[in-house]
Amino acid sequence: MGASAGHQAGRRRGCRAGYYREPFAFADDPNSPRGKPAASPSNLAAFCAEAARLGWQVGAHCVGDAAIDAALTAFESADQAAPIRGLRWTLIHMMLAREDHWARANRLGLIVTAQQPLLYTLAEGFRKYIGPERTRNLEPLSMYLSRSEQPVGGGSDSPVTPFQPLLGIWSSVTRQTHGAGVQGADWKIGAEQALRMYTLGSAYAAFEEDRKGSIMPGKLADMVVLDADPCQVEPEAIRDIRVVATLVGGKVVHEA
Ligand SMILES: [Zn+2]
Repeated sequence: MGASAGHQAGRRRGCRAGYYREPFAFADDPNSPRGKPAASPSNLAAFCAEAARLGWQVGAHCVGDAAIDAALTAFESADQAAPIRGLRWTLIHMMLAREDHWARANRLGLIVTAQQPLLYTLAEGFRKYIGPERTRNLEPLSMYLSRSEQPVGGGSDSPVTPFQPLLGIWSSVTRQTHGAGVQGADWKIGAEQALRMYTLGSAYAAFEEDRKGSIMPGKLADMVVLDADPCQVEPEAIRDIRVVATLVGGKVVHEA
């Protein structure tokens, strides 16, 4: 489970890329003590309005409560240009979601996709830059599940983080991180909830719930066979579950 050079670089960069309502604990750029948005409000609004007119789906990777504010403001102005409800616009890793975000997100029918491996990978760096309190509250998974009116998806946020779905499920259930121990135990979720996020939830976010996300007649037979049931083993043991076979279209393409 070693991290590649890319992941190491991502670890250094990732935790400093964000936009927050309150200043960083140890801001290294005095001109941007709260970080900064990756796109200007006017560019973001113009892009989103055009996407809304075209009926496109938009997903925004959000690091920090102010980044979520910025995405919501742009999505709301796009909704004025052409209604976006039903297009499943997505807040990808709604990091540091606040209670006041949910009324706005739900009114637009937004989807949130948890990317717990981002917190797993970058927790140590986040603690340094934004402080321990905010770090614990990044990726508040149980808040996503209780507040969102839409299915919640789950992902790896690869390539910033390792592409290992079971790692994401394990960290979602335990809140364990790389190098910073358990972060925000209050936000942990059950194994079945995590599995649902990583399967049906993500299929829904991609408009693919009729083909993917569960094993039933009429859907693609793309699946893995595991050597243990994530819902039956101890949470800590989910990380050690092995993939014994991978099927694509019902055909075995990998056997351990
Ligand atoms: Zn991301």
